[in-house]
Amino acid sequence: MSTTPRGRLFFANPGPTNIPDSILRAIDRPSQDFMDEGFVALFEECIRRLKPIIGTEGHVFMYTASGHGAWEASLVNLFSPGDTLLMLESGYFSESWTEMARKFGLAVETVSADWRRGVQTEAVRAALAGDTERRIKAVCAVHNETSTGVTLPIAEIRAALDETGHPALLLSDTISSLASIPYAMDAWGIDLTVGGSQKGLMLPAGMSFTAVSEKAMAAHREARLPRHYLDWTVMLSRRHRSFVGTIPTQMFYGLSEALRLLEEEGLEAVHARHRRLAGAVRAAARVWSGNAGLQIFCADPARCSDSVTAILMPGGHDAEAVRRAALGRYNVSLGGGLGRLAGRVFRIGHLGDLNEPMILGTLAAVEMSLADAGVPHGRGGVAAAMDALRA
Ligand SMILES: *Cc1c(COP(=O)(O)O)cnc(C)c1O
Repeated sequence: MSTTPRGRLFFANPGPTNIPDSILRAIDRPSQDFMDEGFVALFEECIRRLKPIIGTEGHVFMYTASGHGAWEASLVNLFSPGDTLLMLESGYFSESWTEMARKFGLAVETVSADWRRGVQTEAVRAALAGDTERRIKAVCAVHNETSTGVTLPIAEIRAALDETGHPALLLSDTISSLASIPYAMDAWGIDLTVGGSQKGLMLPAGMSFTAVSEKAMAAHREARLPRHYLDWTVMLSRRHRSFVGTIPTQMFYGLSEALRLLEEEGLEAVHARHRRLAGAVRAAARVWSGNAGLQIFCADPARCSDSVTAILMPGGHDAEAVRRAALGRYNVSLGGGLGRLAGRVFRIGHLGDLNEPMILGTLAAVEMSLADAGVPHGRGGVAAAMDALRA
């Protein structure tokens, strides 16, 4: 049974995320010459204010592309054909980054992992220690694996590199953690950070970036993969020292407003809000696990993501039926299972522009949808979430 949707669509995907009205208003601008000095000043100010969110003083290169474009930039700017990367398996996104690297002729070795826990630091240390010829040029990690809802302790990965004295670069994908979960690029010794516009930064999709350390810039000067549109050297020769081609000016009015919102709330408060809302989602999900029902997909409580929760269906039940009920009857959009998790999990995104009643509304719709779809579950998840939010 589907009804005509009225009221707001409750958008609980883990990307893209809700765009605040003030950002939508800010983007609503006529076209402008991107060489205009007023725009150049706005652009430079955006970059300056974005850096503390990433925790870096390194250069930020921007692309008119979704996050995949920034992944591609990370590969073509740093490596040469035949170079070896060490990919830390986390889920669908580490698999996709691997697939892309192989298409560019890179050799990818994988530290394999249980998707419900993420890679164990000890296994990373062993892989690095075993690389006595120092063939591995870079370790690639997805800080927050959006397909599984598992967050990796990147600082521990850095420590594994330091303890083994391995010179590899450390690359980290923060597309679903930046401005949601604490991240400190320079303090954690990360050489390249991949970020995107449409998750924690609350913007439309279509812009992504890489922040780059001095060590990564030195590697870039030796790298021989063909590139042009994403080439940092080409970018550095241009006025904005970012972008090749037309700059999406409207996005920067949106980014400036997004940064204002984050600055007004304060980054620590932004992180605390994400932690609080995530705690409510997990409290509800723990109640739903009653009656041999659903499980939080992340099996390591210390690694459960504060920006997205993947929920594993009981055997024989299809996650898509729950998503259909939520959207069709209650106007609530949930994330689906990606790759091998298709049909087995649904995902509740809890990052970006969200507050308590939005989360509670989503959780109530999920609980009703579980009943509608005949999925076994414990009742009372929303009450547990309310308790968690008031604690
Ligand atoms: C969303 C996401 C991507 C892909 O980004 P697109 O903007 O969809 O190209 C890559 N990595 C992670 C961790 C993501 O969450």
